[in-house]
Amino acid sequence: MPSKIDFRIIESESTFLHPGKGFTPAAVQFQVRIDPLTGRTGHFSHFGAIKPQKLPMTDYGKPEIKGFCPFCLERRDKATPKFTTEVLPEGRAVKNEAVLIPNLFPYDVHSGIMIMTDDHVVPLERLTEGRLLDAFSLGIEFLKRIRIINPGLPYCVMSWNYMPPSGGGLVHPHQQYFATSFPGNQFVDELKASEEFCRTQDSNYWAELISEEQRQGQRYIGRIGSSHWITSFVSLGILGEIMCIFPDVFSVDDFTDEHAYELVSGLLKIFQYYQSSEIYSFNASLFIGPVGQRHFSCHLRIIPRTFLNMRD
Ligand SMILES: [Zn+2]
Repeated sequence: MPSKIDFRIIESESTFLHPGKGFTPAAVQFQVRIDPLTGRTGHFSHFGAIKPQKLPMTDYGKPEIKGFCPFCLERRDKATPKFTTEVLPEGRAVKNEAVLIPNLFPYDVHSGIMIMTDDHVVPLERLTEGRLLDAFSLGIEFLKRIRIINPGLPYCVMSWNYMPPSGGGLVHPHQQYFATSFPGNQFVDELKASEEFCRTQDSNYWAELISEEQRQGQRYIGRIGSSHWITSFVSLGILGEIMCIFPDVFSVDDFTDEHAYELVSGLLKIFQYYQSSEIYSFNASLFIGPVGQRHFSCHLRIIPRTFLNMRD
């Protein structure tokens, strides 16, 4: 049976007079790849030309560079807000080092920040299983609670910008958890396209993607429990992207402690790989669809980030 998923690649090249070859004509290849779900394109180019830059981790802890951090223990209690009693009677949710607070600059009606650690500078090797599990399980619990309080916010997002190259506002490890009616362009495009795929192909795109990637064996990394880990055909980052797909998780109600454990187990392997590749920063997002649908499976995307140079 032919695959329902089409990985389209347009191979092309650019010819110019090369300065390193006595200005004789040289043809350099590139690819344009078309995302099989959304039809968005990605340019696959400058292979190996970008190397991650080492970050000045010890400097991040120095007072003159650190500046004001509301998440540090000595200020946290006074400087960070508390939830109203309707949302969280205890004001802040705590699980070991993980502390959930409202965002002073909210993205939506219920917008939470997960402070993940007591320490301000936490390199990848110290993002331990315990710290990650506490943050994710407390965050998912919060999303489930929002769904009960306000079922009118159908889409759930976790976003995590780790270290300055990711655009993170603070070095202190933290994640955002919120439910919304407006989940962003990437989410909306995928949601619409997944619905359309389900209608026209009579199957779930995400399950099809997993089996096609397993069959082709080029980008499929592996499975942990019910989670499948794949490198993206069209990456959103310049240093590649890894996706974790939970084909049977459609809404936040389906997301169990077991899923959180699988997610964390996979992330720990990625962080080991990042350390061996001298990657120090990333963006990660977890997308969870609305209750009552079976076409948009929960998935996480994670991309390495770097400054292009440290001179500036
Ligand atoms: Zn801090």
